[in-house]
Amino acid sequence: MPGNGRLKIGVYWAASCGGCDVSVFEIGFRILDLLRIADVVFWPCAADFKYADVAQYPDGFIDVCLFNGGIRNTEQERVARLLRKKSRTLVAYGACAADGGIPALANFSSREALFQYAYHDSPSTENPLGVEPRHETKTACGTLDIPDVYSAVLRLGDVVAADYTVPGCPPQADRVWEVIQAVAGGAVPAHNEALRVGCTMKSVCDECPLEKRLVKITQFRRHHQFRPEPGWCLLEQGAPCMGPATRGGCGALCLKAGMRCEGCYGPPPEVSDQGTAMAGALGCLLDAATEKRAAELIGQIPDPAGTFYRFSMASSHLKARR
Ligand code: SF4
Ligand code: SF4
Repeated sequence: MPGNGRLKIGVYWAASCGGCDVSVFEIGFRILDLLRIADVVFWPCAADFKYADVAQYPDGFIDVCLFNGGIRNTEQERVARLLRKKSRTLVAYGACAADGGIPALANFSSREALFQYAYHDSPSTENPLGVEPRHETKTACGTLDIPDVYSAVLRLGDVVAADYTVPGCPPQADRVWEVIQAVAGGAVPAHNEALRVGCTMKSVCDECPLEKRLVKITQFRRHHQFRPEPGWCLLEQGAPCMGPATRGGCGALCLKAGMRCEGCYGPPPEVSDQGTAMAGALGCLLDAATEKRAAELIGQIPDPAGTFYRFSMASSHLKARR
């Protein structure tokens, strides 16, 4: 057990790709400053901690816990509740914890359809006995149990209240550092999940350096299909950039690297559904005088729903397939 007076830090990885865990190391040499004042008391990806270790901590023992990933199964929900209880500050860390992220794109399919593909139909599956995961399996040595998969991915906030939200896929290192410093300094707003660390009250478009020429979109194209004119808004050139429907704060990182915004900071403030916000923005940007022409243009985007809700399906009005 770490000594008194030192900051206690936890990191947990639920339904996510693992990039958020790696992103913590992007604070670089500041990690040495961190280790001078802090101890890691739970980080399954980096060290051999057990849930039972956490259960033995007093309530509120962990000063700051970075929880990344959505909630896809019973184990993740159980750990989210445990970490809420044991953490003074629980951070919804990254797009998946904040809005469902990439894993929540699966919410466009039913659990049955996902299992059918994953355990039977995918080209890399060999499953001659047609086995599927079961919650309980009786063996000669006793009953084995594995977590139950939910019918949809939930946000962390659907299960427990977080104190901070740090958006991004993955979050930027400076945002991580801001949260750690805020907690070290005792500046923790109580259960203010809506406070997205490092975000502005505007959209990515507002911080994008590319020029808007106020021309209508005449076609949609994928990045490999054209070479965008430098300095000119990618959306006006036909790349389905999510900048108008995405919360600002990243400094238009992707645009500065020549890529469209994919929407990882989630919807802007006052917008509850990122996908419909994007559809609304396109409504006045398309070069389409008729509904048929508008449908033709939108049809040029290979996966409109997956594009407009790439990171925010779990926080959308739809939430999941019905
Ligand atoms: S739509 Fe995209 S490229 Fe155009 S100004 Fe907004 S963020 Fe920049
Ligand atoms: S430009 Fe968009 S996709 Fe890129 S980091 Fe910013 S919010 Fe995320």
